[in-house]
Amino acid sequence: MKTIRTIKELKKELSRCRESIGFVPTMGFLHKGHISLVEKSVNENNITVCSIFVNPIQFGKNEDLGRYPKDIERDSIMLEKAGCDIVFIPDTSEIYNEQKVFLNIKNLSDSLCGKKRPGHFEGVLTVVCKLFNIVRPHKAYFGEKDYQQYIVIKKMVEDLNFDIDIRIGEIIREEDGLAMSSRNVYLNDEERKRSILLYNIIQFVRKSSFIGQKTEELENLLNEYLIKNMDNSIIRMDYAEIRNDIDLERKKTISENSRIFLAFFVGNTRLIDNGRIIL
Ligand code: AMP
Repeated sequence: MKTIRTIKELKKELSRCRESIGFVPTMGFLHKGHISLVEKSVNENNITVCSIFVNPIQFGKNEDLGRYPKDIERDSIMLEKAGCDIVFIPDTSEIYNEQKVFLNIKNLSDSLCGKKRPGHFEGVLTVVCKLFNIVRPHKAYFGEKDYQQYIVIKKMVEDLNFDIDIRIGEIIREEDGLAMSSRNVYLNDEERKRSILLYNIIQFVRKSSFIGQKTEELENLLNEYLIKNMDNSIIRMDYAEIRNDIDLERKKTISENSRIFLAFFVGNTRLIDNGRIIL
């Protein structure tokens, strides 16, 4: 596996490659969720490129940019083992030079994480667009874990006519159900125990729902569940919403496309998760 830090070097390396390129953008501190995307890419392409770049412009002022976890050495070992061919680790100055152009998307980023983290998807779209132009992949891999991000990127690719196949990888979870995340490392023992609430909510909603049911009825059950099961001293809800997973709108009735979207603060750590309601 080659480690490349500049755009020039990466382009030179890839210009020799006439084969299919798969691309997995990440912010590093990798776990099995990231690796599952890399393995998918390795299976489906001749060359796999993974980027590690903590994108400053997708973080809000009071978010965790300054303390985002990092372990390039461990990441490299995991990537090499997964069959990754190139890891691209640019400095911030390699990606941004007085950037004046930013991408935006209507409606799809007005809700859920878009609403709670103003400017977040603008930052994500801008960096992904730049990385797509740098890497020029045939296929790019994103996790279902960040489902709204997947939808927003798919729409960008469609609207801006990128010739890239956007692939989704299922959520990889810890044994108790907590979705793997680089941010889980922030949790202390007590918070780690409480963080299982997100997965429990998804399971509860699945148990309580059926196709054709009124969304409002399920939301009422969800609220009751939250009142009963939330320990407010450690866990704070950011949002818990049932939406359609094609346009992220709230529909009147539950269908196969209904999905529950969750964001909770556990201590100071913001965790997100989501899942289809009807399996
Ligand atoms: P990040 O490094 O957090 O920006 O994530 C990079 C990619 O990995 C994104 O497409 C995420 O959706 C994906 N990802 C993160 N966590 C998981 C997980 N638990 N299972 C599957 N994919 C994940």
